[in-house]
Amino acid sequence: MKVQDQDFGMTRDSVPIQLFVLSNEKGMTAKVTNWGAILVSLEVPDKDGVSSDIILGYDKLDGYIDDKSYQGSTIGRYANRIGKAKFTLDDLEYTLAANNGENHLHGGITGFNKVVWQAEKIEAPDNAGVKFFYLSRDGEEGYPGNLKVEVTYTLNNENELKISYTAQTDKATHVNLTHHSYFNLAGAGTGNILDHQLTILADKITAVDKDLTPTGEFKDVANTPWDFTRPMAAGARITDVEGGYDHNYVLRNSGGALALAVGVYDPKSGRVMQLSTTEPGMQFYSGNFLDGSITGKNGKIYHKHFALCLEPQHFPDTPNEPGFPSTVLKPGETYKQVSVYKFLQGE
Ligand code: BGC
Repeated sequence: MKVQDQDFGMTRDSVPIQLFVLSNEKGMTAKVTNWGAILVSLEVPDKDGVSSDIILGYDKLDGYIDDKSYQGSTIGRYANRIGKAKFTLDDLEYTLAANNGENHLHGGITGFNKVVWQAEKIEAPDNAGVKFFYLSRDGEEGYPGNLKVEVTYTLNNENELKISYTAQTDKATHVNLTHHSYFNLAGAGTGNILDHQLTILADKITAVDKDLTPTGEFKDVANTPWDFTRPMAAGARITDVEGGYDHNYVLRNSGGALALAVGVYDPKSGRVMQLSTTEPGMQFYSGNFLDGSITGKNGKIYHKHFALCLEPQHFPDTPNEPGFPSTVLKPGETYKQVSVYKFLQGE
């Protein structure tokens, strides 16, 4: 399958940026850019076979350069929060960039979504893709170790968009990568996602404090508004969740093998998305901070709950929580993650 590449403009310091177009035979097209290894658009057929772009974002590179909401982004070196922007590893204390109050969020001030990646096309018989490379230097945003990161997007004819990650370091560090697309299966900018039917295969969430940093405890979802173990509209109980959903689910199938984690069905378009991942956690964020201040693709304004993010990852603040599955990466080891977003045409 072929990959087309196009000019996507220039960074503020005049580095030319490309847009790669991956298309399959089933009406799906994914566009990715080497600015931030970002997914720029994802066209998916609805129940009648009509394809629309189902992720929020911008028409032009400038939108992504100025963006503060992590649209379509590859997030690293550490997705989600690290409390007080500090951790101790091998008896050394590291201070990270604090960019969310006193905490560290999504890799800091210049995360992996704000850098230029190298890119290599993949044209295989059964998939089309792009492999992105980035070297995150020792000390970047406060983290130890030179970290070599690879992120590969591939699209196949089974309507699967697969995102695979690897990373290697020369000093012990923490790594937790994720993908941060804002999905609206009815089409980007068409309305809110409160009627999307969501199933999350998780019986617990990690309990959080007022800054959304884990307390180290786990909370059962049974009989709470966080229970999506059976299909439930995203908005059915959202008013009972202060601020809206922005919580890490402890996935049932978290043995490290690729396993189904989330199903989403949009009754309007009939589009179904299934997310499988190798990760133990998944942040469900219901677009609470979208406030009408972003003008996105085709001039559409993005209001509260106009999209949802489903971010496969290790648990937030793991560097400060010894009871959570470890995110330490040591020299000689390889960090690996695979997440697959599969699309089906429902009723
Ligand atoms: C976080 C939110 C944050 C959003 C965009 C999500 O992953 O959990 O709190 O506002 O990303 O920055």
